[in-house]
Amino acid sequence: MFLSLKSIELSGFKSFGKKTELVFTSPIAAIVGPNGSGKSNVAEGFRFVLGEQSMKSLRSKRGEDLIWGGSPALPRMNRAGVKVVFDNSKRLLDLDFKEVVVERVVYRDGQNEYLLNGTVVRLKDVIRLLAGANIGGSGYQIISQGEADRILNARPRERREMVEDALGLKLYQHKKAESERKLEDARNNIEKTKSLRREIAPHLNFLRTQVERIEKAREMKEELAVKLNEYLAREHAWITQEDARLRQEEQVQVNELKELTESVSRSRSTTASAGQSTLRELQGTLSEREGKLSEARRESEKLGRELGRAEGALAANTVTVEQIVPVPHVRQFTRELSEVIGEAERESDVHTIKSKLAHIRGRIKAFVEGLSGFAPETNEEVRQQVERLTKSLDRVQEEEKALAGELEALRKEIAKTREAGFAAERDLLALESHVREAQGKLSSVRAARSAIQSLRQRFEEEVREGIALIGEAVHGWEKSHVPEGALHEDDRTKQEKRRREIERLKIKIEESGIGGGDAVIKEFNQTKEREQFLGKELADLESSVEKLEDIIAELEKTIDARFTEGLKHINEALRSFFSKLFGGGYVKLEVEQPKRAARSKIGEEDEGDEWEEREEEDLYAGLSIDVSLPRKKIRGLDVLSGGERALTSIALIFSFVAVNPPPFLILDETDAALDEANSKRYADMIRELGAKSQLIVITHNRATMSAAGELYGVTMGQDGVSKLLSVKLEEAEQVAK
Ligand code: ATP
Repeated sequence: MFLSLKSIELSGFKSFGKKTELVFTSPIAAIVGPNGSGKSNVAEGFRFVLGEQSMKSLRSKRGEDLIWGGSPALPRMNRAGVKVVFDNSKRLLDLDFKEVVVERVVYRDGQNEYLLNGTVVRLKDVIRLLAGANIGGSGYQIISQGEADRILNARPRERREMVEDALGLKLYQHKKAESERKLEDARNNIEKTKSLRREIAPHLNFLRTQVERIEKAREMKEELAVKLNEYLAREHAWITQEDARLRQEEQVQVNELKELTESVSRSRSTTASAGQSTLRELQGTLSEREGKLSEARRESEKLGRELGRAEGALAANTVTVEQIVPVPHVRQFTRELSEVIGEAERESDVHTIKSKLAHIRGRIKAFVEGLSGFAPETNEEVRQQVERLTKSLDRVQEEEKALAGELEALRKEIAKTREAGFAAERDLLALESHVREAQGKLSSVRAARSAIQSLRQRFEEEVREGIALIGEAVHGWEKSHVPEGALHEDDRTKQEKRRREIERLKIKIEESGIGGGDAVIKEFNQTKEREQFLGKELADLESSVEKLEDIIAELEKTIDARFTEGLKHINEALRSFFSKLFGGGYVKLEVEQPKRAARSKIGEEDEGDEWEEREEEDLYAGLSIDVSLPRKKIRGLDVLSGGERALTSIALIFSFVAVNPPPFLILDETDAALDEANSKRYADMIRELGAKSQLIVITHNRATMSAAGELYGVTMGQDGVSKLLSVKLEEAEQVAK
């Protein structure tokens, strides 16, 4: 027969202070030896290496208790290790190796280490691997000493679990538990995700409103860019045109003013100098001629008088000097002279003074000539004198007339010159008024230029503000052509309207608080992505909840179906073993009415109190045993004797093994309570089972020993170390003592 369990090696485990190996070559191996030699330690070695977590099941309190404690002969060890070797040529275990070595080591600090073919793995990897081969975990694969009737003592619910284990449903139970754990995790995650979404929702809404506002502001900015570009293009064209026009106009005005100013100064100087000197010259000539005229008049008067006297003398025929120069005449002469001198003294003009002096000289000469005259000797002389005087008088009067005409002409000339001066002054005034006018024009052109300068400054300020609001887009105006009508004065009113509209738009944008817009949009997108991610996660979780619920339902169905089917087979096998052992009677495992299991304490007592909520499993049907012995009226487990209980337990264990044979089974003194007749029946059943499962039986019973194909003896010497030796059946009983 194929043996899946090849060997077990114990080193430092409990009483096996030295490395000891058991190699299995027969389907049934028996381990024999005296009490306390270490046989049960071998069975516990199996429990240990297959992943047993209950210290109580290993008859210990701590991990340290499992390590060889030392004796005077052999010092204690720091680790206990057990190794089992499986023949995996038939792929009993789901690993691609012909041989699989499972090893467990415990250290004094309680640390455990699990290895598969020498590689460190997790406990659950070992458990899963073995469970796949219907090894480990079950309460019946290794039946410890005195533990055979555990199934009888168990509560209906635990009993059901043992049967489920025996039927190999543990794997499904594991899967179901795992799925339930996942389901719970998924449900918790759904709650967490929902709560995260609820937390995010108000923030997301807030951000959405912000983003809508930002978007609106962006639209307004785009509108502003279009309007601003048009406005700036118009403004720039207007400013450039006006600036050039006014610059030119200013130049024209400056030139005109310069010309006018020059004309004024020219006119001023010519009018003043030329006009006045001509007038002065004319007035000089006038007074000179006036002097001459009065001299001529005096001459004329004198000649007149002399003529009168000469004519008188001619008439009287005798004329004296006294008669000729009378005293009043001298007085008259002196008065005239002093008058002219006085005039000359008051006069400042040199020409006039000179002419006065000449006049004075003439008068004196004439007077003296009059004094040096002599009395005419004859009337002829007098008549000649009269004649001469008449001629002189005529000449003087002629001269006088000419002078009067000259004076008249001079006066006219003076009046004309004066008039010309006045006209020049009027012209000057007119020029000056033109200058003022030109100055006025120039200053208004300059005012207009400074207004254009202000417009330019405002334009630059508007460009700067535009950059602050819409960035580089503001420069769009530079590329656009000059809009129609921009250069017409009429456009200025419309342009002002545009400006006001732009200002209103700017205020709206500023009020919208667009600052940090990008950061808000980024946060909104991130939050939205997070929300969508959570939404997707929620959908995934909900779908995995559905799938898990389906899996669990499917597993429950499978477990239920297999359980019902398996229980039927177990009951059949049980009945057969039972009647073999008792020679009749009746036994049956029965599913109880489902009971409400509120809170049930499960798990291992030595690992502390472990409570598990089983609310979703509130209905649970346990297993009861209905037993009735042949020839006995009373039914039920409670009335069985110790031996009867042992036999019933054995029938139960063997029925489990028969229905779902594990690769190997370890029975530690399960036959201890049997009498001779039952020991034989037990041995028969062992042989029967041995055909299906590899058996390792620890026994003191010869009948059982005889069923085994190989025998190992365990002894313990003075050093307290368990030793192992292969023995023959004949020696075995001896060794067992
Ligand atoms: P029985 O036939 O009476 O059931 P057994 O052969 O099954 O006996 P075990 O119970 O396997 O005997 O062995 C018990 C022995 O192992 C005891 O003598 C005990 O002192 C020894 N032992 C247990 N743990 C250790 C340990 N950590 N270090 C050394 N010896 C130990």
